[in-house]
Amino acid sequence: MEVVQVPVLSDNYVYLAHDGDETAVIDPAVAEPVLAAAAARGWRITQILNTHWHPDHVGANLAIKEATGCQIAGPAGEASKIPGIDRAVADGEQVAVGGAEGVVIDVPGHTAGHNAYYFAGAGVLFCGDTLFALGCGRLFEGTPGQMHASLAKLMALPDATRVYCAHEYTQANARFAVTVEPGNAALAERVVAIDAARASGRPTVPSTIRLERATNPFVRARDVAEFAARRAAKDAFRG
Ligand code: ZN
Ligand code: FE
Repeated sequence: MEVVQVPVLSDNYVYLAHDGDETAVIDPAVAEPVLAAAAARGWRITQILNTHWHPDHVGANLAIKEATGCQIAGPAGEASKIPGIDRAVADGEQVAVGGAEGVVIDVPGHTAGHNAYYFAGAGVLFCGDTLFALGCGRLFEGTPGQMHASLAKLMALPDATRVYCAHEYTQANARFAVTVEPGNAALAERVVAIDAARASGRPTVPSTIRLERATNPFVRARDVAEFAARRAAKDAFRG
């Protein structure tokens, strides 16, 4: 499976996932650059996969469906809030892009019905606003316990899994992470690489499960209470 990253708005990433003669769009905030990226490669958009209902993830559902006739799959728990949804999917259900098989992982916390899409053969995870590089989503609709459990599910995926999250928040996340674990050498090394990437205009996404496990203060919290304290501290952090 080939993945193309389309930066849109101030810090969103929309993804094209292509395999065989099919192309999926993950979380289309806007239509034009996404349609252009597909057209430039001669790819036909056949489906949209939404991780959650927030407007910066579903904003172009109807425009892309209108332009391509694609099918839309989104979280069953938020189906009434997903524009143009054709298929509501929940934990353990299969999705496929060409010959690439994926599975839905239910990861509530940022929103109540948030989905992630994991393509095991390709080693690719689309996790929306649940897991970020060095961060995690804000708890708009869920509890710390839910998000802690959701992150634990994602951390059980293979080390080499590439983590395609929906925002370029990494540098701000890094400023907080180093206050939590000032003595973490892997984190310090990662921060240098992040700053270099951003200074030259390169993305810091995708990450990997291995890298998050070693450096992300939210997935490294020992229990729900420590996770909750870190999430609250990050919400209040002005770095
Ligand atoms: Zn969101
Ligand atoms: Fe978002």
